[in-house]
Amino acid sequence: MRRVSIFGSTGSIGQNTLDLIRRRPGDFEIVALTGGRNIKQLAADAREFGAGVAVTAHEECYDDLVAALSGSGVQVAAGAGALTEAAERPADWIMSAIVGAAGLAPGLKALEQGTTLALANKESLVTAGPLLLDTARRFGATVLPVDSEHSAVFQGLIGEDIATVERVIITASGGPFRDWPVGQLARATLEQALNHPNWAMGQRITIDSASMFNKALEVIETKEFFGFTPDQIEVIVHPESLIHALVGFNDGALMAHLGPHDMRHAIGFALNWPRRMDLPVERLDLARIGGLRFEAPDEERFPALRLARDVMATGGLAGAVFNGAKEAVLDGFIAGQIGFLDMAAIVEDVLTKMSADSGHIDGAITLDNVAQTDHLARVRTREAIAAKT
Ligand code: NAD
Ligand code: MG
Repeated sequence: MRRVSIFGSTGSIGQNTLDLIRRRPGDFEIVALTGGRNIKQLAADAREFGAGVAVTAHEECYDDLVAALSGSGVQVAAGAGALTEAAERPADWIMSAIVGAAGLAPGLKALEQGTTLALANKESLVTAGPLLLDTARRFGATVLPVDSEHSAVFQGLIGEDIATVERVIITASGGPFRDWPVGQLARATLEQALNHPNWAMGQRITIDSASMFNKALEVIETKEFFGFTPDQIEVIVHPESLIHALVGFNDGALMAHLGPHDMRHAIGFALNWPRRMDLPVERLDLARIGGLRFEAPDEERFPALRLARDVMATGGLAGAVFNGAKEAVLDGFIAGQIGFLDMAAIVEDVLTKMSADSGHIDGAITLDNVAQTDHLARVRTREAIAAKT
């Protein structure tokens, strides 16, 4: 039996992970499940899988979780400290599927036990890539990508000499606003941003897909995870989202990874790695699909992509500034305080100002510095939002 923990088990990635585990009774033992305010889901899953511990990130939800799990034998804990403690519990495979910068600390603790970390939480690579990978190296841990594009690149590199890779191309669906003119984008509503054409995901990543902030994070994630230089990483808009990424080699070959819109492929690949195993995902019918389209991304309408290049050029803690500001503008957009295009404009402003004062960017990438930088970026962003409203 493999011991498994899932951080962010109540979310979209977490539930898809549990779906795969549910289909293989007897293969896995659940060490820890963690969630936020969805106590009902967390408790139901903890009972079903007989988890060792269930942790809610919110201390005020502790009593509800205790009540929901009474008589189950599942231990209960709450708060950020309890999350990192749960990551210290020995497990062979740990899914990092908390959304946002909050996923970094438990991810690092998990690596310190030398485990295999399946990384859906792209924000940890964006804010602290070198720290994360260095921790993995020091403790003999393995990090496997779960983001579909990065899983696709990873699969494209199997058996290849990385020195022969010229470029990688990650695809973007273009989201619900792919062909919207700027004027219309400025008035885009939350409901429209949540209407993703291809993928069903958590609320935050869905809005980030509409603004292409998600793709911006993924470009940085590609650089950090695989060590490619920024000019080796390209983005192409591919409305069908069936090719997730392509790897280009020095002999001109371009290897594409195709698959259905189902995160259980990338999750299952990481869960079963290094073997491939049967997965309950749709098999593509290419004749029915008929054709695949490609378009160059428009950085004027989707400035997040340009900002990703600035972040990579600046380096250091710029990723923490970018992600912290991005999370805060997202809160502002969800709360109806700012418009859709204000998000990128405010992030750019905060990034430019904090980069100009290099003290904010030049510090070592430690957990404390990342947390402080993230905090300051959010404060600056909230000030900018307040100035607009
Ligand atoms: P989601 O919003 O559906 O779920 C997030 C999970 O994190 C929930 O369990 C929630 O309770 C927990 N959480 C939220 N805030 C927290 C906090 N402050 N502290 C502790 N736990 C907290 O998100 P998702 O769509 O499953 O995405 C999870 C991660 O995977 C994100 O980093 C996202 O970018 C990445 N990802 C998701 C998809 C997808 O298809 N959903 C694809 C690629 C990558
Ligand atoms: Mg992705």
